[in-house]
Amino acid sequence: MNLLEQELDYPFGAQMPDSGSTLEVAPGVRWIRMALPFALDHINLWLLADEIDGVAGWTVVDCCISREEAKAQWEAIFAHELQGRPILRVLVTHMHPDHIGLAHWLCERWKAPLWISATDYYAARLGSQSTTGFGGPDSADFFVAHGLSDEGKLAEIRGRTSYYPSMVPAVPRRFHRLMDGATVRIGAHDWQCISGYGHAPEHMALYSPAQGLLLGGDMMLPRISTNVSVFDQEPESNPLQLFLDSIDRFQALPADTLTLPSHGKPFRGLHTRIRQLHEHHRDRLAEVLVACQAQPCSGADILPIMFKRPLDAHQTTFALGEAVAHLHALWFKGQLQRRRDADGVYRFLATA
Ligand SMILES: [Zn+2]
Repeated sequence: MNLLEQELDYPFGAQMPDSGSTLEVAPGVRWIRMALPFALDHINLWLLADEIDGVAGWTVVDCCISREEAKAQWEAIFAHELQGRPILRVLVTHMHPDHIGLAHWLCERWKAPLWISATDYYAARLGSQSTTGFGGPDSADFFVAHGLSDEGKLAEIRGRTSYYPSMVPAVPRRFHRLMDGATVRIGAHDWQCISGYGHAPEHMALYSPAQGLLLGGDMMLPRISTNVSVFDQEPESNPLQLFLDSIDRFQALPADTLTLPSHGKPFRGLHTRIRQLHEHHRDRLAEVLVACQAQPCSGADILPIMFKRPLDAHQTTFALGEAVAHLHALWFKGQLQRRRDADGVYRFLATA
């Protein structure tokens, strides 16, 4: 546990649900943990006791990527953890593969509707049908423009076509739209939708005032900071500012809210965590600004300043996207100016 984590309270300690099983974290709210084949090696999913049209069952929150191991784990849960009741609804916080990958499979199997924000629904449908949307030549060109010159990594990124469809082979053909401020009745409780930006197009967290629970998705994680990246599809964006503005919206929730995050363990200390995340990004922004005061810097120049460890091609795409996000936050604030040099690379220099 790092120093920052010691400021948070983990009410379940080291307890975690076993594979194929669940752990009750509040009445009618069950925690599922599934393995992921990435550096981020797990995701938390949730089962909420529900009743729709007079039928008692469950709402599932998030799904895991599409792969046999995850389906097998779901099968074990269907067999032993549902108390003989059906899954009535599949609610997805955002369009990233670990969250929506198996939504089509769950919805099909249980004849259950998908609930998700409209922006993420359409982004997921496009992504699952496209070979180049995430990774591939466009993405490699974008990274070249931000200074990436490692030919091996670029070749890997260029070759990474069909990356999203490999984990999200299909998306249900229809959906129920989640909107900021809307209330979703799940079983005996109301959950308020809170949209968040900067990590996914239109992420939805859900808050239950009666239970003091926040389904934080990827917007409120206890140990790691949420990935906030500029991508080739929206190359002029300012996702870091969007993210910081979004997490401030959770400040209005009570201090003793139990946050159920998509990665890591359920925690209390929401306001502390919001402060830590602000401090984390404030410190990174300060380092980036100092570097750009000394000389014009590309995103690739910023990488070793922000990330001290060696990065493989996959990690480089996240890290460079995140480096550009920090450059853009300063650029949008007027603290940096951008120029495109003769080599086609964007470089940023402090304005004063
Ligand atoms: Zn995500």
